[in-house]
Amino acid sequence: MIHLLSQDTINKIAAGEVVERPISVIKELVENAIDAKATAITIEIEEGGLKLIRVTDNGIGMSPDEIKNAFLRHATSKIEEASDLMTINTLGFRGEALASIAAVSIIECMTKTKNAITGIRYSIEGGLSKAFEDIGCPKGTTFVIKELFYNVPARKKFLKSDKTEGNYITDLVNKMVLSHPGVSFKYISNGKVKLHTSGNFSIKDCIYQVFGKEYVKHSKEVKYKNGNISITGFVGSPVISRGNRQYEIYYVNNRYIKSKWIQKGIEDGVKDGMMINQFPFAVLFLEMPFDLVDVNVHPNKMEVRFDHEEDIRKYFKEAVTSALNHNEPIVEVKLTDKKDKELEKIITRERQKILKDAPEPFEVKRIEKSVNKTENNISVLEHNVESKQLESEQPEVKQLEVRNIEVRNMNKFLDKQKIKKHHVIGQAFKTYWIVQYANELYIIDQHAAHEKVLYEAWINAVKDISIPSQVLLEPVVHELSDKEYHVYDIFKEDISKLGFDVENFGDNTIIVKSVPYLLNTPMHDLDFIHFFDQLVEGETSIKQENQYLHKLASIACKAAIKGNHKLSEIEYKYLIEQLLDLEDPYHCPHGRPTMIRMSKYELEKKFKRIV
Ligand code: ADP
Ligand code: MG
Repeated sequence: MIHLLSQDTINKIAAGEVVERPISVIKELVENAIDAKATAITIEIEEGGLKLIRVTDNGIGMSPDEIKNAFLRHATSKIEEASDLMTINTLGFRGEALASIAAVSIIECMTKTKNAITGIRYSIEGGLSKAFEDIGCPKGTTFVIKELFYNVPARKKFLKSDKTEGNYITDLVNKMVLSHPGVSFKYISNGKVKLHTSGNFSIKDCIYQVFGKEYVKHSKEVKYKNGNISITGFVGSPVISRGNRQYEIYYVNNRYIKSKWIQKGIEDGVKDGMMINQFPFAVLFLEMPFDLVDVNVHPNKMEVRFDHEEDIRKYFKEAVTSALNHNEPIVEVKLTDKKDKELEKIITRERQKILKDAPEPFEVKRIEKSVNKTENNISVLEHNVESKQLESEQPEVKQLEVRNIEVRNMNKFLDKQKIKKHHVIGQAFKTYWIVQYANELYIIDQHAAHEKVLYEAWINAVKDISIPSQVLLEPVVHELSDKEYHVYDIFKEDISKLGFDVENFGDNTIIVKSVPYLLNTPMHDLDFIHFFDQLVEGETSIKQENQYLHKLASIACKAAIKGNHKLSEIEYKYLIEQLLDLEDPYHCPHGRPTMIRMSKYELEKKFKRIV
C-alpha cells in the first residue's frame, strides 16, 4: 500500500540532510549570525551540544514578521531570484536551516532589531509553534536548542560520544575564529570558557588564542599576489611541524575547504627542512574571483573545484616558499653597464672563493644527477635498469637488491675489518654520505641508516622496558584539546614506559619533564608533540595491534630522529659500526634502502672511458 507521508515526516527527512549532528546546528547558527553582521558571537554547548546549544549574536536581529518566516522551509532573506545564486556572497542561502533544526529539537529564539522597543521570544517544539511573546532583550539574536534529535531516535544512534561531538564543534569553532578575526568569539563548553577572542581583526591574535604562543612565534606571514588572486595568512617553520595534516588549514574566499591541490602546494612550499611524515602548520586564505572556483560541489562536504588546479598549487608553493625565505640575508649582486671597479672586484673575489671550495665540478654534477634519479630506485645506479618500470618500491626492486647484496658479500662493505678501509669522501645535501670502498662508490642515506639503528635500539629497549630518560632543563607545558587530552589519558602509562616523564597539570594541560634518551640521541623537547600527534592520529587503531608497545616505540623513535642533522665523520663512522650489528642493515624500518652503490666500472662507462 502506498502512503502519503505526513508533513511532520517530510520535515524530519529534510532535516536529516541539513542537520546531521550537533556540529551542523552550530555551523548554521554561527553562519547566520555572521550574515546578520554580528561583531560578537557567543557559542555555548552542553554535553557535546546534545543537551544544549546556545548561540547569541549582536547582529541586526529580526522583526516580528521576519522571525515567523525564518522558520519556514525555503524562507531566506538572502536571495530573491535564481539569478542571485551566481553572485551570492553570504554563507548560507538555502533557507532551510532553521526549519530543519526546528523539526528535530526544542528551539527558542529571542531577537530584537536596533529600532524595536521590545524583543520577541518565539518557541517551537518538534516543528509546532508554542509561544510568541514580547520580551526585553538586547539588540541581536539568541537561539537556544535543547534536546536535539529527541524525536528522531534513529539519528541519535549514529552520533558519537558527547565528548567526540564536542570535539567536532571545537574544531569548527576554531576554524570559524581563524577566518573571522573581526568577530569576537566566546566559546563555552559545559560551563567552561574554552576560547575568547577580541575581534580586533588580527589573524595573528586568533592563532595565538587557538593554538598558543609557540605557533605565533614560529610562523611567518604570507602575503602573495598574482593577477587577480591573493594568498595571505601564516605558515609555520619546520620547528612546529606536526605529525598529521590537521594543522594545514586553508580557506577559499573565506570558506574553510579541503583541496589536494592546495595541500600539495603548501607542502611543496615548506619541503626544505621538513622531514618525511611531518606536515606544516598553516592558516592561509585564498581570495579569487568567484567564477573561477566552484565551492558548491557538495554543500556539506568541503570539496571545491578550481578551473586551473595546477596553477593553484603553484601559487601556494610560491606564497609559502617566499614567506619562509623572506628573512634570509641573501645579497643579490648585479652587474651594471657602467663598469664599477669595486663591484667587479667583489664579484671576482666571490667567484674565486666558490671555485676554491667546490669539489671537482664534473664529478659532483654526475653524482648529483644520479642521486636524484635514484631516490627510490637503486637499480639505475647498479645496472642501469629502465627506471620507468621500477618507479615505486616494487617486488622486482627487492629482488635486484638481494642479488646485489649477494654479489657484494665477497668484498663486504659492512664488515668489521673492512670498514677501516672506507674512504669517506663527504656528505651531499646534508643527507647522503659518499664513501669509496674497493672498486665502488657507496651512497648512504644518513637518515634511513640512523632511523634503522635507532629503531632497533628502541624495539630492544621496549622489550626489557628499560628506556633511559633525560631530564629537560626546562620542562615543557602543552595545552591539549579535549580530544588530545582524552588520548593522553588512554596512553599515559605507556607514555611513561617509553621514557617520558609527563605530569598532569590540570585543565587539559600536561607538563613534560623528561624525554627518552637512546644511543646518544636525546629527544628534543618539542619532539614529544610529534610523537603525541601520531598517537592522536592512530588513537583507535594502535591499541588493537597485538604488539602495540612496539608500535608506540616505533612512533617515538620516528619522532626522535631529526631532519637535516649534520653528522661529523666520526659520528658517521659510529653510525656505520652500529649498522654492522643489525640483522638487515640494508633497509630502513619502512623497507627503503639505507645505501646504494655505483661501481667504478659504471662510472667509467658513463664517462665513455670504456665502451
Ligand atoms: P538562510 O540562512 O539560508 O537564509 P536559515 O534557515 O538559516 O536560512 O535562516 C532563515 C532566515 O532567518 C535568514 O535568511 C535570516 O533572514 C533570518 N535569520 C536567521 N538567523 C538570524 C540571525 N542570527 N540574525 C538575524 N536574522 C537571522
Ligand atoms: Mg542560514
